[in-house]
Amino acid sequence: MSGVLEVADAFDLIVLDAYGVLHEGAGAHDFALTAFQALREIGKKLCVVTNSVTHAPEEVAKRLTDMGFPIGGRDVISGRSLLPWFLRFHREGRGYAVLGYHPDVVAEAFPGTRVGSFDRDDLDAAAGFILVDTNMWADGTPEEVLFESLTANPRPILVCNPDVTCPYQGALSYEPGFFAFRLAEALPELDITFLGKPYPAIYDLVSKRFKGIPRDRILAVGDSPHTDVLGARGAGMKALLVESGLLRTQDSAQRLMECGIEPDFISETI
Ligand SMILES: [Mg+2]
Repeated sequence: MSGVLEVADAFDLIVLDAYGVLHEGAGAHDFALTAFQALREIGKKLCVVTNSVTHAPEEVAKRLTDMGFPIGGRDVISGRSLLPWFLRFHREGRGYAVLGYHPDVVAEAFPGTRVGSFDRDDLDAAAGFILVDTNMWADGTPEEVLFESLTANPRPILVCNPDVTCPYQGALSYEPGFFAFRLAEALPELDITFLGKPYPAIYDLVSKRFKGIPRDRILAVGDSPHTDVLGARGAGMKALLVESGLLRTQDSAQRLMECGIEPDFISETI
């Protein structure tokens, strides 16, 4: 029996991380397909809470459905799901530059914003920034130019993916959180808002979408101690850490001891 099925009785809603739990890019994990279907069969409510933000939640839902995890667009929640709410505190993003792999789609969804680039003049002209992803940050240039522009004139940044790293093609990638935390350290006065896991707003949105389910009847399944476990436990939910993703090649007990983060449950896979 899979890890989640062993403990599922105690929960009404299972919050699933995608990358590292259900799949790792190319294809679905077979054990995850089995567990997902079994959870549905025993009547558990399921949602996916992901820090994958390059694509909108509806597109992530479609991709997961195509992989064999049938799920509706409303049941996929990411940092992008929070943008409408947070932009209220940022003049609806008026004059903000969107930085990411597909900035046009986000800029179209929020008419006050515009597509950004790493041209220094273009960065200097922005009222603030929506950092969607850092997929194209192949060398140090984007970080350097953004740093220079923000040093000269600090402006707010909304970071849609707080992840520092994630397993990618046999190595570990640098994710937006990595750069944003460096910016925060170098420019402590900078107004940075993180929109995904492990910050509380995304869990509040889960509770809003699944009204009436007490937090202690919600189980989050994830492969990252700092993202999935810390976030869920901080939000009053229970957490199951799977060793199939980020920690696959590591001594997970040792890593957990080092960071002092304790999941409620641990299993090899979902
Ligand atoms: Mg993950």
